[in-house]
Amino acid sequence: MKITFGQMRQMGLRGILVYCHCGHHIALDADRWPDEVRLSDIEPRFVCQGCGARGADVRPDFERGNPRLAIVGGRVAN
Ligand SMILES: [Zn+2]
Repeated sequence: MKITFGQMRQMGLRGILVYCHCGHHIALDADRWPDEVRLSDIEPRFVCQGCGARGADVRPDFERGNPRLAIVGGRVAN
């Protein structure tokens, strides 16, 4: 699912989770990116603080978003 930050905000989501292949992940506010940017566009920009690898998997943070959508997010994640 490659959506833009604008579409994500329309879903009521305000944050992203950035995952590295090593298992390290961080949560960030999505406010800093404009509506037209896709989540996949920023993936190559991250450098992992755990293993130093460049590139990450960026997903909407359902936990911090609309509570109504949190259940759906959990199902997708698992
Ligand atoms: Zn890593």
